[in-house]
Amino acid sequence: MVTTRVLIDHRLAGGATPRHPEKAHRPDNPIQRKPDWIRVRAPNHPVYHETRELMRSHGLVTVCEEAACPNIGECWSQRHATMMIMGDTCTRACSFCNVRTGQPDVLDASEPERVADAVAKLGLRHVVITSVDRDDLADGGAAHFAAVIRALRAAAPDTTVEVLTPDFLRKGDGPIEMVVAARPDVFNHNLETVPRLYPTIRPGARYFQSLRLLDRVKQLDPSIFTKSGLMVGFGEQKPEIMQVMDDLRVADVDFLTLGQYLQPTVKHAAVVEFVTPDAFAEYAAISRAKGFLLVSATPLTRSSYHADTDFARLKQARQIRLLAA
Ligand code: SF4
Repeated sequence: MVTTRVLIDHRLAGGATPRHPEKAHRPDNPIQRKPDWIRVRAPNHPVYHETRELMRSHGLVTVCEEAACPNIGECWSQRHATMMIMGDTCTRACSFCNVRTGQPDVLDASEPERVADAVAKLGLRHVVITSVDRDDLADGGAAHFAAVIRALRAAAPDTTVEVLTPDFLRKGDGPIEMVVAARPDVFNHNLETVPRLYPTIRPGARYFQSLRLLDRVKQLDPSIFTKSGLMVGFGEQKPEIMQVMDDLRVADVDFLTLGQYLQPTVKHAAVVEFVTPDAFAEYAAISRAKGFLLVSATPLTRSSYHADTDFARLKQARQIRLLAA
């Protein structure tokens, strides 16, 4: 498994700037021992290494590695890599996130073709494309997202496309419209946590901007599935989670993901609670009762975890609902 520490040491070994300069002054939050239900296997499958090599040979960044995702062994053994476009450096500094913070490089115009070529070679049925936040760009990177979607349609026409975008805060409606016009199959944007915790967990974002983005996508093209996710374990309360579920339903969001927050380093936000599998099952039942087409709520659920099979279930759930209407 690619651990956070390996990533940090690798960056520093080359004399690069620290991965999280904005977090360096923070007091340490000791990392708690994970409960038994969060154990994952180390990646050693041959296909894992093939996937890794393909990402390297195409010069691609993945959120699987940058976020030190615990599911990388399982996902990459099935060639499911989630590519992170527009560089490896984010303009935000969320306290949960392991992606490097700083001034990003200029956009690489060859990236859409490289992403599309890698996806075609992986032979994916469904791909998830995410990105760092690019507050430095006038459109927040929307045109680049659209270019990636178009390149994917040309190189891998049978692959369905899911985008997991930034919030495009203070960029107006143009960027949202631009990505929607490129017609991804799924438009995902994560709320990440409850509104009370935004100032500490997601300080550069605004809860109602994220909610509005999801609402706007659905207004612009109701055929696009919308999806959002939350991490739990930051100290949020159950009624707060239920309120967020209601807010997402008002925005007509189709698919909710809920997963356990895991602390990448001692400089990141502390895990306040390891939510039990039974509590996740209860959240799943509540979400379904609130009307989401699909819910994934387990400790290891991540936005892109099992996204291919979930997309098939999502389509089926919409079909069943339309027939019942
Ligand atoms: S869950 Fe998503 S981010 Fe994590 S390894 Fe799988 S595809 Fe990558």
